[in-house]
Amino acid sequence: MKKITLQEKTQVAKELLKEIEALHTHGETVRFMEVCGTHTVAIFREGIRQLLPKGIELVSGPGCPVCVTDQVYMDKALAYAAMDDVIVATFGDMLKVPGTHSNLWEAKSQGAHIHIIYSPMEIIELGKANPNKKIVFLAIGFETTIAVIAAAVKAVAMSGLTNVFFLVSHKLVPPALRALAKQKEGHLDGFILPGHVSVIIGEEPYGFIPTECHMPSCIAGFDGLEILAAVRDLLAQRKSGHFYVGNQYKSVVAKTGNPVAVRLMDELYEVIDDTWRGIGVIPQSGLRLKGAYAAFDAEKAIPLGPIESGGVPKGCQCGRVLQGLIRPDECGLFGKLCTADHPVGACMVSVEGSCAAWYKYGRAS
Ligand code: SF4
Repeated sequence: MKKITLQEKTQVAKELLKEIEALHTHGETVRFMEVCGTHTVAIFREGIRQLLPKGIELVSGPGCPVCVTDQVYMDKALAYAAMDDVIVATFGDMLKVPGTHSNLWEAKSQGAHIHIIYSPMEIIELGKANPNKKIVFLAIGFETTIAVIAAAVKAVAMSGLTNVFFLVSHKLVPPALRALAKQKEGHLDGFILPGHVSVIIGEEPYGFIPTECHMPSCIAGFDGLEILAAVRDLLAQRKSGHFYVGNQYKSVVAKTGNPVAVRLMDELYEVIDDTWRGIGVIPQSGLRLKGAYAAFDAEKAIPLGPIESGGVPKGCQCGRVLQGLIRPDECGLFGKLCTADHPVGACMVSVEGSCAAWYKYGRAS
């Protein structure tokens, strides 16, 4: 979107809101899910909820990779961190994600070898600097991050390093949307689709939303005007009964996405059923390293044996929050036992988690 002045932006916002008002049936409640955590934050930052007419609700979805990382995965990461000859490499926002009995932050403070990285490529230097240790990188994230980590897996393979491995828990967005759209509750009326993920996969993988699920959907950027334009697009699709995959982020998201990144992902990974925290198994929603790259799968190279994992923390409703069935502030622990300083569930850990965003911005609105 080209740079415009604040005055111009205000004018465009007014026009979009007028169109939204005209497209919305007075007295009807429609619930659109913003799938992506970055959108959740942008919606708060730009005050979008307060601008929309009564009856148009924006519901936060499962688009925060840290939030949907399963508890068993965290227990595996903790088991690796407890091994003397292993260094666990991770992005910093994974540190406070709860495992059954502890988290990586506590393990680190008790002396476990946990190394924070800012770019996946750093694991190559880490592997070279620690030839007598095994490096286990916590490879989580949606399509946007998968493409970057896939490049790191390839770089490790080409480097000849034999002590760097990946504990993979990547998640694919379209299968999660299919599961949400087909929920028996039928509580959603459309999707604001994630901008960053769409840069990689393009429009085509969402094609089932209009054809199979008969729902409106629209890719959006992270500017307030782009989000409002997506809401207008969803309402227009509802009104006309003609559903398609809208794209209000065309400056960045090509119809075909990034074919180079998609080819790289196809080369390295095979699709598997996967468990999403609090939601359960979603068919064909995860990835596993395949072929020659399976040699870099941490679970194959350093088997762990059975992992005993408990259920979600008592009272935590992350699963219902991630599916848009309740708002974060409808969880009984929100703001009381569960805060940004003392998160009980994963949705309060990451800045892009629904509960963390509601805690930071939503309490005042
Ligand atoms: Fe879980 Fe805390 Fe969110 Fe409740 S407020 S759902 S305990 S993360």
